[in-house]
Amino acid sequence: MDIEREILPTDILIVGAGPAGLALAYKLAKLVEADGSVEMPEILLMDKGAHVGAHSLSGAVMDPRGLAELIPDYKELGAPLEAEVIADAMYYLNKQSAIRIPFLPKELSNEGNYIVSLNKLTAWLGEQVEACGVDIYAGLAGYDLIIKDDRVTGVQTVDMGLNKEGEPRSNFEPGSIIEAKVTVLCEGVHGSLTRRAFENIPCLREDSLPQAYLTGVKEVWQVPEGRIKAGQVYHTIGWPQPHDEYGGGWVYAMSDTMVSVGYAVGLASPDPMNDPHMKFQRLKTHPFMRAILEGGEMLHYGAKTIPDNGFYSMPKLTHDGLLLCGDSAGMLNPQKLKGIHLAIKSGIMAAETLFDCLKNDNFSADALAGYQQRFDQSWAREELYKTRNFHASFKGGLLAGLFHGATQVFCGGRGFFDHRVNKPDYKYMCKLDEYGRMTGRDLVKEKVKFDNKYTFDKLTDVYKSGTMHEEEQLPHLVIADLDICNNQCTEEYGNPCQHFCPAQVYEMVDDDSRPGKKKLQLTPSNCIHCKTCDIVDPYQVIRWVVPQGGEGPNYETM
Ligand code: SF4
Repeated sequence: MDIEREILPTDILIVGAGPAGLALAYKLAKLVEADGSVEMPEILLMDKGAHVGAHSLSGAVMDPRGLAELIPDYKELGAPLEAEVIADAMYYLNKQSAIRIPFLPKELSNEGNYIVSLNKLTAWLGEQVEACGVDIYAGLAGYDLIIKDDRVTGVQTVDMGLNKEGEPRSNFEPGSIIEAKVTVLCEGVHGSLTRRAFENIPCLREDSLPQAYLTGVKEVWQVPEGRIKAGQVYHTIGWPQPHDEYGGGWVYAMSDTMVSVGYAVGLASPDPMNDPHMKFQRLKTHPFMRAILEGGEMLHYGAKTIPDNGFYSMPKLTHDGLLLCGDSAGMLNPQKLKGIHLAIKSGIMAAETLFDCLKNDNFSADALAGYQQRFDQSWAREELYKTRNFHASFKGGLLAGLFHGATQVFCGGRGFFDHRVNKPDYKYMCKLDEYGRMTGRDLVKEKVKFDNKYTFDKLTDVYKSGTMHEEEQLPHLVIADLDICNNQCTEEYGNPCQHFCPAQVYEMVDDDSRPGKKKLQLTPSNCIHCKTCDIVDPYQVIRWVVPQGGEGPNYETM
């Protein structure tokens, strides 16, 4: 289809109004205002969510270091901090009991940190950014990264009003081309534009190990008084995850009666039935969790992937016309499972670099490389480097990981192994007939009887995520070869998509044209944009692309 597209020129295009993108816009506006010698650049800050914070989902215990550097008087200005951490404990779970780990090293301690709702925090940051005169275009989704002669020149926004076959409807509005001197990708984990950058600019990842992801599944609960105190933080390891797989749970008390509970599951799993949602539901049946949730009510649900391999999986941060910030650059401390402070710091460093570019009227690749140099000398790099081997040390299972993790504390993060090479997560998945031989376990689908009180099926949970997509649009889950799904994958892997997706987007249903056979049925309107399918589909035939802007989950207090 030949489409004439409007060209919208701007100076700086920021994709994603999460902590990194908002910090960048805020800091740059403040630097320009304080300096007074350069004109305020045109900054176009876009986000695919219906409003700032709609797609912001996180654990979340925040290390305040980044926010304090960005806005030193953040408390006086009313930053929404739910509670300061007052107690912090880790428990090892087996099926019936919970054993408190007696000693928590300071590297894992949350002293001085805050429990936050990332949704509320980003909404508040958005207000600070708008008060600086920067407009935020919520509901505007970037469909494609434009690269000309190895230079990133901007983004094409998504077409609105296409039908399921890709034909224009009466309300069709073609996406625009936003042309920018620099495009900054702050689109969160495994963003579709970032993926396009990595595929088309191979030097960005030539020195990086593949990323290792977790899928985190989470609910916010209202609980009766007396169960927990605001600021209490619990982490769990062990059950229901097998010892040779990566994962753990959390309980964060946002107030005396509101808790965030969740479970993060490694995607480098041999199990083709790996189901993060089901594991989380099982976790809630444990007496330790039940004692907190008993008599409570589940209010909200969400899921997202987490880039967990840390420093060695980070890409190069700059290219001609391009900067990468926050989760788009894999900036997450895997030891603490925290990235908000690093995302904010990356936004600050990107802003300082772009301020230099403005002053010198020079946005060349060399000038943008100042961002990498800033990172290399920053506390963010130091923190990420110290935790560089943490995730990899769990390759031999939970006990080996705890042992190696402890040794890393005493030798600057090196431990017994350094730079352990890994494969992309999907390559760890076993075929049905390999699983028993490789793991020594029978392949059994984990099950929970959903009681709709403490445990919920995926559709009930999706309803609590506020997810909305217009049904009549081009599917944003693109399957390159359905034949692989309906035949080869069924035989070899048993269609893992029906298990790993935490929103029941993929189902195998009877195929009327082939009696006795099943076919894949997609319900993209359920999708909560976690990207698990794009990461872990064993044939890599699923591609997640952006749906129409303003759609997807609508997270509240998450
Ligand atoms: Fe996540 Fe993919 Fe399921 Fe959407 S379809 S919820 S991105 S796994």
